[in-house]
Amino acid sequence: MSPIMRKSPVVLLRRPKKLPRKAIPRLTRRGSLRLQLLRRPSRNPAKSPVTRKTDHARALKIYDRLTAAYPDAKCALDFDTPLQLLVATILSAQSTDKTVNTVTPALFRKFHTAKQFADADLPELETLVHSTGFYRNKAKSIQGACRIIAEEHAGKVPQEMEQLLKLPGVARKTANVVLGVTFGKAEGVVVDTHVQRLAVRLDFTTESRPEKIEEDLMKLFPRDKWIQVSHLLIHHGRALCQARRPRCLECPIEDLCRSADKVLA
Ligand code: SF4
Repeated sequence: MSPIMRKSPVVLLRRPKKLPRKAIPRLTRRGSLRLQLLRRPSRNPAKSPVTRKTDHARALKIYDRLTAAYPDAKCALDFDTPLQLLVATILSAQSTDKTVNTVTPALFRKFHTAKQFADADLPELETLVHSTGFYRNKAKSIQGACRIIAEEHAGKVPQEMEQLLKLPGVARKTANVVLGVTFGKAEGVVVDTHVQRLAVRLDFTTESRPEKIEEDLMKLFPRDKWIQVSHLLIHHGRALCQARRPRCLECPIEDLCRSADKVLA
């Protein structure tokens, strides 16, 4: 043994610069796990034409089972008009529908039209939406969106994705909610935090960004299911497939779920 190695045994553990890829997992447990994840073949049905047919069938089976389990699944926000839904959806960012529903009755009693929201006293608007969090930004977005609606759309919420996306505080999720729920227009799939989590657990996607997840869901489900599939996933996410401890023993799609997050004990 060389004197250097006797003095510093750490040298023996250092990874050689050009170690063959196959040898890396043996170095550490953490290294092994990481490589396993990196090498996991994509099971994204949209990107795997070989499995595409079976994954479509499985996705539709899941859709049917969830429909049977949650026949009344629908948007949980309270509203009467497209404008109210738009405002409520802007408020729902980083908040819960339940919290938003406690705020909107007073808000909608005070302001009825886009012009009234646009002309509102900003501090008053902020106070009214305070409990939904990020109230300054939300009040500003609501006022900005309503100003555009009042001035450029004759006070009516636009029915085109392109126009909706020009409104402050409106991204694809909000636009999809408004288009799907109030106008019955399937332009995309609503991807909120529940849909994001469940789409991954159910192997509908391997993506993490909402817009990419939405693309995968649009490829996986037929267009006439785009609106309802998000309601079903959101309901299932709230009822059983919660983030921390999913209630898999009660789950109606347990046999179709391949998630590593399953809790069966
Ligand atoms: S089996 Fe568990 S993880 Fe899979 S969908 Fe059902 S509740 Fe969610």
